Amino acid sequence: MSVTTPLSDHACIVVGGGVIGLSIAWELALRGVRSLVLERGRLGRGTSWAGAGILPPANFQTALDPLDRLRGLSHALHREWAERIRRETGIDTGYRACGGIYLARGAGEAASLQGLAQYWREYEIRCEPLDAESLGRREPALADALRRAVLRSAWWVPDEVQIRPPDHLRGLAAAAAQAGVEFREQTPVERLVREGSRVVGVETAQGPITADTVILAGGVWASALNASVHVARDLIPVRGQVVLYRAAPGLLHSVINEGHRYLVPRDDGHIYTGSNEEEVGLDERTTPEVIASLREWAETLVPELRRGEVERTWSGLRPGTIDGFPYLGRAPDFENLYVATGHFRSGLHLSCGTAVVIADLVTGRTPAVNLDAFRPAR
Ligand SMILES: Cc1cc2nc3c(=O)[nH]c(=O)nc-3n(C[C@H](O)[C@H](O)[C@H](O)COP(=O)(O)OP(=O)(O)OC[C@H]3O[C@@H](n4cnc5c(N)ncnc54)[C@H](O)[C@@H]3O)c2cc1C
Repeated sequence: MSVTTPLSDHACIVVGGGVIGLSIAWELALRGVRSLVLERGRLGRGTSWAGAGILPPANFQTALDPLDRLRGLSHALHREWAERIRRETGIDTGYRACGGIYLARGAGEAASLQGLAQYWREYEIRCEPLDAESLGRREPALADALRRAVLRSAWWVPDEVQIRPPDHLRGLAAAAAQAGVEFREQTPVERLVREGSRVVGVETAQGPITADTVILAGGVWASALNASVHVARDLIPVRGQVVLYRAAPGLLHSVINEGHRYLVPRDDGHIYTGSNEEEVGLDERTTPEVIASLREWAETLVPELRRGEVERTWSGLRPGTIDGFPYLGRAPDFENLYVATGHFRSGLHLSCGTAVVIADLVTGRTPAVNLDAFRPAR
């Protein structure tokens, strides 16, 4: 099909309605660039929906590494975005400056936590070690684990924050719609339409749509589309499984981290428990073994959870990359095609900063973060 009979013309098409695509579309709209978000399924129901929403502390002022700078930029923006979404749409995104506790059980875990604490201090991120008494005061539900000597060391990190992804996504979509963003769900983009060094639109199952600029933000499912323009070719889906408990509100107060596993308490008593890492392609099923091991971990740490109900389990596919950096920037063979994907375990956290730097590129500004390390065709 040709693009001479467009469904509609847009300044910008964003492929993918996850946290990355929605954030970019909103930021662009606030700068006066009209976009259409094309989503093959339902908005905000991909990996972003499945995530925990932990925003670990970060400091833009002191960060040197480009990924840390992007994290620092995002961390500061999240508070502003949550306030703005609430003001403009009335939606509470679940942004809570609840702080985080980091725990170690074995000697190896304690040593790596000590290293992490050194990193926090170097970058002027507030942290303090907790003795048994102060941990018990902050989180009475963990006091028993200390008495039973399950834990070896603990740190308190006051600037850790959480958002609740389904609410954050709903808020983003509503704010973006108010700012003029249009959405089309159940509209997979099958192909990009190219004229020389420009993308002039996309081909969808419902027909062609033209645009001045196209942004690829399709997460793990967009590999074929990415590969067709030689960008973000090595995305690796990394499955993470989740157990959602319903417990008494107030059982825990902060995000509790131990290695790659964590408990995230929500206001209403739900406790999000994650996670693991598995490379199983695009298989989104949960497995009894992993769910059992997550439960065993959580219930040893907080025995009260044995009395809570497991309300639901699910899994999500993180968009991993070989070097751990996302792909952000302009596709090298094109004047007007941009890529924002591969955020692995941090896409919810990095979404605001990603939106700002991509909008900077689209509108001809120099981003505050040097994007060389994130080149989409590396
Ligand atoms: C268990 C788990 C816990 C996590 N916890 C955290 C956390 O605490 N903090 C954090 O920062 N991150 C976390 N993450 C990671 C985070 O969820 C991801 O990095 C982020 O959601 C990626 O967002 P995305 O928009 O790129 O992908 P997605 O949310 O998957 O969005 C991409 C969208 O593009 C659509 N799409 C794809 N191809 C096409 C096409 N051709 N046409 C139209 N639409 C298309 C898809 O349907 C999808 O809706 C977690 C992930 C998991 C799995």
